Amino acid sequence: MAIKLQAKTEARIVPIRFERAVTGAPDAANPDIDDRGNVHTVPAMNSLAASDPIRGAIVGITKDQEITVKMVREDIDNNADLYVTSSDEQAVKIITPADGDKCSTGKDCKIKLKGGHFGGSTPKSAKVEIRFGAKDGPIIAQLSTYTFNRLLVFIQPHVVTVDDPSGSGGVAPTMNVTDVMTQVEALWASSGVKFITKPAQSFNIKLATANKMLWGEVNDVYAKKWVANTINVYIMQEIDGALGYGLSKDAHAGFGMTHPGVFMGMKSGAIDRSTETYWCANDLAHELGHFFTLWHPTDGSGSGWQRYETWSMRFLMHNYNYTGRAGAPQGVTEWPKFNDFGYGSYGTAPYRAGLVSIKNVRTGASAGRDGQCSTVRNYIAQGPSALY
Ligand SMILES: [Zn+2]
Repeated sequence: MAIKLQAKTEARIVPIRFERAVTGAPDAANPDIDDRGNVHTVPAMNSLAASDPIRGAIVGITKDQEITVKMVREDIDNNADLYVTSSDEQAVKIITPADGDKCSTGKDCKIKLKGGHFGGSTPKSAKVEIRFGAKDGPIIAQLSTYTFNRLLVFIQPHVVTVDDPSGSGGVAPTMNVTDVMTQVEALWASSGVKFITKPAQSFNIKLATANKMLWGEVNDVYAKKWVANTINVYIMQEIDGALGYGLSKDAHAGFGMTHPGVFMGMKSGAIDRSTETYWCANDLAHELGHFFTLWHPTDGSGSGWQRYETWSMRFLMHNYNYTGRAGAPQGVTEWPKFNDFGYGSYGTAPYRAGLVSIKNVRTGASAGRDGQCSTVRNYIAQGPSALY
């Protein structure tokens, strides 16, 4: 069947594109895909040199891990005969469709991939190739893959009840640590980061105000309990001025803190997100990004914090937990659809997305806030004494 296209002066034809295979809660087997921009490089990571400019989308996979991605027939017939091959089976194998089988017909086809099994800690990059007409036919689309060594990171959650100076008034946070950590692990799995979460511990502490920790009281919490060689995550009812803090080993001393760590508040003003699993998971994963030295796309006062473009709004490290972009084409009730990042919404505000960017779309001035997978993997690979 012919495809009708209208072009005035120029039209870019995209026969095939790739999407996350599911929407909703993060899932390690259905990772987010970095499809921002077109031709960009991936910075050097773990002894693998920076890539040549890579066309199209990229997905991360861990050795021996199976993941599923969705191939979408865009400017091509839904019945077109398409085959899938790997440019390097040591790096990535095609599980479905099986060797010699065609992709299923229809707009979408799920493709199952498996990370290769190879030695050493240097990642391998390869291409998943979509071929037209035959399994050795012309390549009409590529999904790049990075196959990672698993990097282990330990987490110690603390459920903290903040009492007033007399030792009363504190209420224990009720967030389900296990459910939240399952989603946190899924968000970071696409970067090959594997969290080993120890059982949550609980303690009470006396601070100036019950159920709230001020920025100036962070060291009091550390003095009460801080465990070496792990990321200490403190879950509290409320923290001052934010929903979370993430203080890296590199940055904590500059903030006047005695240790690195991560803090999460359940409440802020009228908000109580104790039972909002994805919101908590996304925020904890974001604060862990800070712990791994990542920054927001921009920081600054007033409008410096607000970003509305698709380069940054796909980021786990986007500035805000959710967004309300101005100028939606329909009424306010349509905003979740207008701004759908695939992870659901809180009221009319879509939740922050979950992508740890692989490509370095942002270069030149103010560079260093993209290509975040490389930044994190290089940082963690320095070992526990640099990380914790
Ligand atoms: Zn942040």
